[in-house]
Amino acid sequence: MILIKSKKEIDYIRESCRIVAQTLLLLKSKIDIGVTTKELDLIAEDYIRSCDAIPAFKGYSQGNGVKFPASICTSVNDEVVHGIPSEYKLKDGDIISIDVGVKKNNYFGDAAITVGVGKISDEQKKLIEVTERSLYIGIEQAVESNRLQDISYAIQEYVESNGFSVVRDLCGHGVGKYLHEDPSIPNFGKKGSGPKLKRGMTLAIEPMVNVGSWQVKVANDNWTIKTFDGKDSAHFEHTILVTDNKPEILTVC
Ligand code: MG
Repeated sequence: MILIKSKKEIDYIRESCRIVAQTLLLLKSKIDIGVTTKELDLIAEDYIRSCDAIPAFKGYSQGNGVKFPASICTSVNDEVVHGIPSEYKLKDGDIISIDVGVKKNNYFGDAAITVGVGKISDEQKKLIEVTERSLYIGIEQAVESNRLQDISYAIQEYVESNGFSVVRDLCGHGVGKYLHEDPSIPNFGKKGSGPKLKRGMTLAIEPMVNVGSWQVKVANDNWTIKTFDGKDSAHFEHTILVTDNKPEILTVC
């Protein structure tokens, strides 16, 4: 069931989302050659807790019993999503995706960005630009009376017309009262299909885009999703509110 949020709930979600956006902005300013992903995690956790909020990913379990051990996901190069912060030092030419989830007043916000470290290749630049642009193209479709897969179709169409592929095994999702709610929002699909969008829905739209094929695998840590072919992947995400007009992006400062 897709939850429709009340005005009061939306205000709470907006507050959590603002903290998510502020955390991402702070982390973006800290990303540099030699910084470990663990350091980024600690910066994020400190900041989120200083806002009287909780890092929503910490201790989160997908149902396989393996709890996520950190506050943010840091996914480098061929890691698609759910990378675990570690002693890994960022290198010149890496790309890193950072995913942040925040819970405050029992309501959630969720967003992600991908950033280049030092000097990155033209292909990596294009991957990051196309992935970010595809997110906004998807968001444009998140208006009342459109169908859910209008979002999916728009993202897929744009990404594939740029020569990249969209990950099929992972999707965006409803968010707000829970970290993951209905509906599941694939980044591929058929125009005009899926449930009708209604004002008051809060959705996390999150294209995951691969340079090579869309196939992915799970790493030995049971969390990190990597591209099957070892090529780079990027990820952008916003939490948005469906309105009767333009969607409102909630994960902004
Ligand atoms: Mg998400």
